[in-house]
Amino acid sequence: MSNKATASMSAVRLHGKRDLRIEQIPHPGRPGTGEVLVRIAAVGVCGSDVHTYVDGQIGDTRLESPVILGHEFAGIVEEVGPGCFDGEHHPLQAGALVAIDPAQSCGHCQHCERGNPNFCENLKFCGLWPDDGALCQYMRVPARTCFALPPGTDPAIGAMLETFGIAIHTIDLSRIRVGSRVAVIGAGPVGLCVAQQAKAAGAEVFITDLLPWRTKLAVKLGMQDLKAHGADLKSVDVAIECANAGPALQQAADLVRPGGTLVNAGISGDDRFELRHSTIRRKGLTIMCVRRMKLTYPRAIRLWQNGQVDLTSLISHRCPLAKTPEAFRMNAAYEEPVVKIIVEP
Ligand SMILES: [Zn+2]
Ligand SMILES: [Zn+2]
Repeated sequence: MSNKATASMSAVRLHGKRDLRIEQIPHPGRPGTGEVLVRIAAVGVCGSDVHTYVDGQIGDTRLESPVILGHEFAGIVEEVGPGCFDGEHHPLQAGALVAIDPAQSCGHCQHCERGNPNFCENLKFCGLWPDDGALCQYMRVPARTCFALPPGTDPAIGAMLETFGIAIHTIDLSRIRVGSRVAVIGAGPVGLCVAQQAKAAGAEVFITDLLPWRTKLAVKLGMQDLKAHGADLKSVDVAIECANAGPALQQAADLVRPGGTLVNAGISGDDRFELRHSTIRRKGLTIMCVRRMKLTYPRAIRLWQNGQVDLTSLISHRCPLAKTPEAFRMNAAYEEPVVKIIVEP
């Protein structure tokens, strides 16, 4: 404990396309004012991490030097700096189990002031180049990005709350009403969370995925298999694309009734998507795009505590930090039965 600044820790750094290396790097050191030192307990591997791993970039953000990935994470507060309050302005104490919001907005730019911290001009985002993420043993993070979890919670659930938060924000944008018919394209972790929350909001949910085991899991969670309805399902109120864009967005657009809503939550690998103009124009569709999330952690925690979402069933694999390269290889290949892989440093 005494010599943390000179101590080292294990981390997994991405050096280039498909080049993950386990390395010893300097320990982050003691927390400053408003910061906590967290011992990382669980990190989720996200589809967006897989994009960066496969392509060396995501959107127009390119990897220009080695970076530690990992933005879905939870851990134990190891040490608390002066003046530390968590995301709900409660004092933070060492030993607390926290889920950590990877987005560190500045709180004072025009977008933050407007209540849109997801568009912050000065955003730091853990695990997105050039900011390091959580695939390591320790991190120093702002206390305000920490959200306390009930003692005894599985840290993997804390990591899943990031994915779940994206889903909550997606539902917020979707204009779903009680009794709406909703199609979800893509039954990955985000799609499965979106589907569960659409159902919780009173919708009838149809879902599909190219990977049969994921559709099967969705059906087990109470959704209807979209394929089983075939051509007669052409008039959903809301279609939510949670795949890797590409043809999925057009597929979603084809399913929506005139005047309905199309939501894009997936991230395209080649930074493009195609939509037939006549489809969206003739139907007068409202198109909503998901940009990360707002303050969704407190709601995510409550919904999980109230049993309104099953996150445990989405965790298909767990592995130690040293197995991270294998986990990414497996996720990038979409090997059965990958849904969500959790790394436990
Ligand atoms: Zn993610
Ligand atoms: Zn800002």
